[in-house]
Amino acid sequence: MATRWDRLGAKQLTKLQDRLVAQQVRHVVAPFSPYWKARFAELGRRSSSIDSVRALETLPAAGERDVAPDGSSAGMARLVVQSGETGFALHAQGPTLRRALRLRLTRPDAYQRVVASETKPTSYVWSGLGFRYPLASTRSDLDVIARAGARMWKVAGLSGSDALLSAVPVAATTEHLALTYAAQAAGAPALFPGSDPAAVVAAGRLAAPTVLAVPAQQAAEVVTALADGGVRLDAVHTVLLVGAPTPEQRAAAAAVLPQAVVLAVHAPAGARVLWAECRERGADGGFHTYPDLEVVQLVDPDSGEATTGGGEIVLSQLGMGGSALLRWRTGDVTSSAIDRTSCPGCGRRVPRIMAVRAGALVLVSDDGRTLDLRSVAGALTGRTDLLDWRVAVGRRPRDGRGQVVVHFVPAGEPGEAAVGAAADIREVAGLLPTQLVAAGAADLAALAGEPLTARILMRA
Ligand SMILES: [Zn+2]
Repeated sequence: MATRWDRLGAKQLTKLQDRLVAQQVRHVVAPFSPYWKARFAELGRRSSSIDSVRALETLPAAGERDVAPDGSSAGMARLVVQSGETGFALHAQGPTLRRALRLRLTRPDAYQRVVASETKPTSYVWSGLGFRYPLASTRSDLDVIARAGARMWKVAGLSGSDALLSAVPVAATTEHLALTYAAQAAGAPALFPGSDPAAVVAAGRLAAPTVLAVPAQQAAEVVTALADGGVRLDAVHTVLLVGAPTPEQRAAAAAVLPQAVVLAVHAPAGARVLWAECRERGADGGFHTYPDLEVVQLVDPDSGEATTGGGEIVLSQLGMGGSALLRWRTGDVTSSAIDRTSCPGCGRRVPRIMAVRAGALVLVSDDGRTLDLRSVAGALTGRTDLLDWRVAVGRRPRDGRGQVVVHFVPAGEPGEAAVGAAADIREVAGLLPTQLVAAGAADLAALAGEPLTARILMRA
């Protein structure tokens, strides 16, 4: 039964996702990803036991540092699916396999092409927060990405008569690839001159755009450069802010192009498709996800356990080979639960995510080094010499340098607890926090800052 991906009822959606999860784990991830093969053995789990979204939630979420503790992109290669002809014959879905087997008899070369298209990673984009790593796609994954792009285009209320001008850096990234494929799949002309303002202005002079795609933090700057450069902007009706913009970034974009609708599109680290906000509802409607291509769940960022309120966004990709991302910790946090009701704007029944803070759990310091707050939380959680703790992240007033301060309530001698915690943090996170401060329970409760997680605070 063909049903539209964005109109499935709750029951149908559960049934579809359960089937896709079982298929993905049993026939792609568990047999062919070296990391997951070892991980399933370590956990003592049979892949056949992960046969539903609910069962998927019982798998511990994993992120960059879990797969590659040393932060090497080579470690991340263990996520790449390594299948071949035998694997294909054992695990391909019925119709694909039957078609391929017919070809094997009549046209061996065409058979090989089908096998390769399903199993061979051919394209890579670079992703990552703490360190850069490649994400692999097979040719059939690229088809999926193109179809998701056509959907994104529609969610944003765009058509084939639109013309896109992108100021997103031209690089092997999910954002650039997904935008390119989206415009192609939608049949819309698109120019990708890169992020250099002069090049964007020159491209804008060639043809008047109707849609701009701009990194969220540079929108106002790029639009001003276009206007100053004499680019006609009166036809621009949509600005796509790439990334998860802050309210200030949205306001800045809206202020420089008051006639346009400002929408965000975003791919968390590890994702291969771009989510979009719908034209009808904008930021209030949240990012519209693709329930037949991914399961989106939340975990408590401090413990990695499943949670139903806000938390860290965890992605499982469905129907894709290449890199096997299952229960992938994206480092993005949201303060609200995933909304599974129909969108009040466009009516699509797809899980929607609001108030996303992209990459909030990995800090990049001024000298380019990164500190993964999940590792810091992991090192502090469960220590018997600490009764409680908070991590406060912010900038030092004196010189604006980033700093991470751990406030802890010691169970015994504070000096010993501090030394032990510092050593563990250095071991797992590779860096020491700026300061460790012994405190009382009341001090922790009184700490100022906006909670990023239950125990990690952001200071202005
Ligand atoms: Zn909507």
